[in-house]
Amino acid sequence: QRFPVVIVGAGPAGLTIGNILRAASVDCLVLEVETREFIEQRPRAGVLEEWAVRGLEQRGLADTLLERAQRHTECEFRFEKARHRFSYLELTGHHHFVYPQPLLVTDLVREYADVRGGAIRFGVRDVQLHGLDSDRPAVSYVDAESGQRQLVHCEFVAGCDGARGVTRTVLPQHARTARHDYGVGWLALLAEAPPSSDCVVFGIHPNGFAGHMARSPEVTRYYLECPPGDDPENWSHDRVWAELQERLGAADRPPLTEGRLIEKRVLDMHNYVVEPMAFGRLFLAGDAAHLTAPIAAKGMNLALHDAFLLGDGLVAFLTKGEQSGLTGYSDACLGRVWDYQEFSQWLSEVYHGTSSGDAYRAGTTLARLRRLFRSPAAAAAFAEQYLGKSPAG
Ligand code: FAD
Repeated sequence: QRFPVVIVGAGPAGLTIGNILRAASVDCLVLEVETREFIEQRPRAGVLEEWAVRGLEQRGLADTLLERAQRHTECEFRFEKARHRFSYLELTGHHHFVYPQPLLVTDLVREYADVRGGAIRFGVRDVQLHGLDSDRPAVSYVDAESGQRQLVHCEFVAGCDGARGVTRTVLPQHARTARHDYGVGWLALLAEAPPSSDCVVFGIHPNGFAGHMARSPEVTRYYLECPPGDDPENWSHDRVWAELQERLGAADRPPLTEGRLIEKRVLDMHNYVVEPMAFGRLFLAGDAAHLTAPIAAKGMNLALHDAFLLGDGLVAFLTKGEQSGLTGYSDACLGRVWDYQEFSQWLSEVYHGTSSGDAYRAGTTLARLRRLFRSPAAAAAFAEQYLGKSPAG
């Protein structure tokens, strides 16, 4: 088999690139280890930045999203049992979109495979990359139906297989991976309960951080800071709700609406950035290239930013022979990646400082928080980064 581009991974990054290529009539093959049903239901992110939605819209990928996504214009910090609203719409005129990742993936896979006629293989096993430093790379995989190994020749490989994929593992020795571990865990929860606030709520509490994020009228995502590597089984239904009520409690608000917990897993808060993001004919995009712990809800946005640049760069090269998009790809992505990493680090201290057990860090964290509500300059800087209005482009 031969395709100009093989895309490894059908997440937001891989499917967006596939759609951009198909819109330009460039053939590509997407390889995905999971089934279509699985990727269309995997719960994860939900916050999309305005520029990312505009980017999808420009590429004809946001029709359903724009009909169904909620607009979020404010967030709320709760500390010392008081509520502090932060209206970033008022400050900047901009907002977030909330649209669950599985719905976005469903829209993208439908458009790619059913509308634009893109090739995709689900349930593949043991993907291997070959000849990446040559002009004739290839990808092989074990096909789900036949059980046979298939070899696909191509010109480019897009490594979009997320944090646990295979493409990052074949990087040459000189590739640099910068890592940061926050030393905390988050218990990520999905509750079958309506949201208890009309906006995202951040609970800053000596017991640990807690977060509340609406996903739909029936489902709410919650986070609870916990020790890294903690066992989700240590968190019974009653313990989860008692801690959420305590950490997100405010004197002037009724208790949170409780419900059945339909997802409960521990995420260790760590980040990495691979530099550069391109090696020979392999281009990494999304979580395969950089992980940002969900502290600032940036991961899916960065995956889309990479995908727009890589999709457009591949189309320019393959249809017009223009190289600049591909040669500038890594630098163009990494500007925004590092900008978001820095913001995540800043926000991590706000979330985790008061529960660090260090009275000095607790004091500076509360000073940071109060400054947000007393200094218009601090508020403007926060809003810019929270909305992803990156000066890096
Ligand atoms: P992925 O979505 O991980 O897709 C990679 C795909 O590759 C997967 O389908 C996988 O099955 C497949 N794959 C893996 N290995 C192979 C292989 N060897 N061969 C073939 N296919 C393979 N981000 C935000 O912006 N906002 C949020 O609010 C937010 N919340 C989050 C909450 C949680 C609990 C988690 C875990 C993440 C969250 N994120 C958030 C991050 C966001 O989900 C990721 O950044 C995003 O999914 C990255 O997209 P991707 O396409 O790069 O990778």
